[in-house]
Amino acid sequence: SLIEKTDSKHLLKIKKGLVPNMNVEGHVYVNDNLRSLIYEEINAYKVNKSSTFLPAVVQIANVSTLPGIVKASIALPDVHAGYGFAIGNVAAFDMNDEKAVVSPGGVGFDINCGVRLLRTNLFYSDIKTKQEELAQLMFNNIPVGVGSQGVIICNQEYLDDALCSGMDWCVKEGYSWVEDKANCEDNGRSLYADSNCVSIRAKKRGITQMGTLGAGNHYAEIQIVDEIYDKKSAKLMGIEKKNQVCVMIHSGSRGLGHQIATDALIDMEKSMKKYKINVIDKQLACTPIHSKEGQNYLKAMGAACNFAWINRSSMTFLARQAFSKCFNQSPDELDMHVIYDVSHNIAKIEEHMINGKLKKLLVHRKGSTRAFPPFHPLIPLDYQYSGQPILIGGTMGTYSYVLTGTEKAMDLSIGSTCHGAGRALSRNKSRNTLNYVDVMNKLKENNISIRVASPKLIMEEAPESYKNVSDVVQTCHDVGISNKCFRLKPVAVIKG
Ligand code: 5GP
Ligand code: MN
Ligand code: MN
Repeated sequence: SLIEKTDSKHLLKIKKGLVPNMNVEGHVYVNDNLRSLIYEEINAYKVNKSSTFLPAVVQIANVSTLPGIVKASIALPDVHAGYGFAIGNVAAFDMNDEKAVVSPGGVGFDINCGVRLLRTNLFYSDIKTKQEELAQLMFNNIPVGVGSQGVIICNQEYLDDALCSGMDWCVKEGYSWVEDKANCEDNGRSLYADSNCVSIRAKKRGITQMGTLGAGNHYAEIQIVDEIYDKKSAKLMGIEKKNQVCVMIHSGSRGLGHQIATDALIDMEKSMKKYKINVIDKQLACTPIHSKEGQNYLKAMGAACNFAWINRSSMTFLARQAFSKCFNQSPDELDMHVIYDVSHNIAKIEEHMINGKLKKLLVHRKGSTRAFPPFHPLIPLDYQYSGQPILIGGTMGTYSYVLTGTEKAMDLSIGSTCHGAGRALSRNKSRNTLNYVDVMNKLKENNISIRVASPKLIMEEAPESYKNVSDVVQTCHDVGISNKCFRLKPVAVIKG
């Protein structure tokens, strides 16, 4: 009963009192189907309390107890339980409140995981007969899977430079086109990154993994435009017709980011006492933003962000090479521009209106995408009239979406929207309930080529393992926190 339906049919409010000491309410955006999933999760937890994570609603409420949080602990429709913070949670902290905190769990272990979309001037008819060849070329080019080695030969000195300069390093080294930068959040470079705040252990993991896609749900996917909802905005992105071929890349900061998150959690857990912070769940370890520990984490996080942008740029380079080889044309001739690159595991300093006052905030987006409106100063010139492009992966067997940012997102969700379909089943449950041959047959029926490094991914990443992405996207569209622009259909999927 402390979880309350409101007049707005998409908003579920978590009232103060669901857990002790909530500073703000929880706001959960869902439709009827997604709301049922939330309740199912609570009921399952009541029966079996042994699961690793608390239910998402409890996690959303827990986050609202953290010092300095403003507005609300906000959950997007793809929300599901994660480490401390739910995945699909936005939480913003007042930079002018000296008690306000930064929490590594609010960013996630895969720091600056994100999605990049490339366009081409090819159509489905151009790739139809070459689909398998192209999928194989991509798979041969792109290092995937847990132990894969990166294509960029990297030593300690190189790495430090890369960690401090992000995509500027890629441009300098010739992996990126200079115009790629403009279509990345923050131009693909975190200015507060400091490689001196990154542990030796994290760097060791980084050196061997630079330029690798990763495992699990990271992918490079060849897709075709299936439906255009907003012609004007799509045109600004270079998308004019159905069946146009695109490449979507989902990758993050690999072991380097994971180690930085782990190091910071240990550091903060130890020093919370010093700052008299008591968290309701140990996984919410945090320290004041302006503390030494908080600043160290933000500088290391910036370095991991740079590493992730370099990673997505390497995948871009390799995808361009694969297409070029297959079609005997240069990537330039194939018009393989970066439409946009979003970060969906990140904390950022931004200015927002809160209760009629302009405030400087540290916005944690974990499994959530920035959704800035038209004419916002921080979005590229190309997209001033459309709003920021938002890239939403679905699953390897269903649609993915491109949305645009809105003013309503600034009002309701601190300029944020969903990031994907969101997991519905745990990896274990997927492996135990889904059948390899069934999943493969369905992909084949839909004409989707697939290359994976590890066969168990077929079950773990099956469409049935995720929520319905169209429900998630439609909810964000109906609430108004982003607008549907176009929809993409998978043709070939390369996964770790
Ligand atoms: P996360 O960043 O939380 O790890 O995952 C983001 C989202 O990517 C998931 O919620 C899911 O919707 C989407 N996703 C996972 N695997 C695939 C895939 O193979 N292809 C596409 N298009 N999306 C995927
Ligand atoms: Mn990731
Ligand atoms: Mn991700």
